[in-house]
Amino acid sequence: MSLLVVGSMAFDSINSPFGEVERVVGGSATYFSLAASYLTPVRLVSVVGRDFPKGTLDMLSARGVDLQGLKVAEGITFQWKGYYEFDLNIAHTVKTDLNVFENFAPVLPATYRESSHVFLGNIDPRLQLDILAQVREPKIVALDTMNFWIEKSPQLLREVIRSVDIVVINEAEVRELTGEFNLVKAARMLMRMGPGRVVIKRGEYGVLHLSDGEIFVAPAYPLETIFDPTGAGDSFAGGFMGYLASRDGAALTEMDYRLATIYGSAIASFTVEAFSTERLQGLSREEIDSRLAAFRALTEFHV
Ligand code: AMP
Repeated sequence: MSLLVVGSMAFDSINSPFGEVERVVGGSATYFSLAASYLTPVRLVSVVGRDFPKGTLDMLSARGVDLQGLKVAEGITFQWKGYYEFDLNIAHTVKTDLNVFENFAPVLPATYRESSHVFLGNIDPRLQLDILAQVREPKIVALDTMNFWIEKSPQLLREVIRSVDIVVINEAEVRELTGEFNLVKAARMLMRMGPGRVVIKRGEYGVLHLSDGEIFVAPAYPLETIFDPTGAGDSFAGGFMGYLASRDGAALTEMDYRLATIYGSAIASFTVEAFSTERLQGLSREEIDSRLAAFRALTEFHV
């Protein structure tokens, strides 16, 4: 199986009640591919400027992320500036500078066209559509987005939503996209647009996962120390899709989707323990396994 991701690679400047950082490495594709790399090889499509640190690219390659689809362009890397108040579930955007993304027209390397799993990470829906059109017969396509694109490109976003199997989206954004406050109703509205499955990320309240006739709810891991929620959503998606892709062609059951949700939640819980990708980049298999066991213990009960 093969997992392809397209998304942003960025410099983030973030202010949270727990500290402030300037120009640290971030971006939806960065977090996604690192998280997924613990479960399956990843093919990455993105663009950075010459100012992006080579050390990060080397670290991604060493983790099994294929960078053939990464363009290093003349110009400046995408930059996002945001802040969080005590409600860490809401990221407030101060500034989004698309920079090298403005003129990015990716051509997929030949090997990438055969990818079985595709994650259209948070980025311009025009690029999401462009990538999707270049993949031959993907088995599972999932998509994430955010308020910036919901407001800037609503039509294109709806077009891409129509063509995917799964939407992974956070709760404020699914409300904005559908105009419906109730999350179960909002998910059903999204499913009527095309996707068979909707996974709603709810920050510290966990995840609500809906498909036809099924609802699964996963908690977030109750951490004592949270530094920076940036990247949690993309890390969740990386763990989720990474697990699905690692099932190697087996027919997926509802239980696989549930386990994928827990993998995503477990891996995302490490991301928020430090700024940027600091915590996520050095995980061991044992740490992931013991957090999976902790998730099981959190919700286990006997009747
Ligand atoms: P999340 O996982 O939802 O916290 O996403 C965090 C990442 O999204 C940050 O590292 C940002 O660089 C990136 N980001 C912020 N705004 C945008 C945007 N408009 N398009 C793509 N990526 C973005």
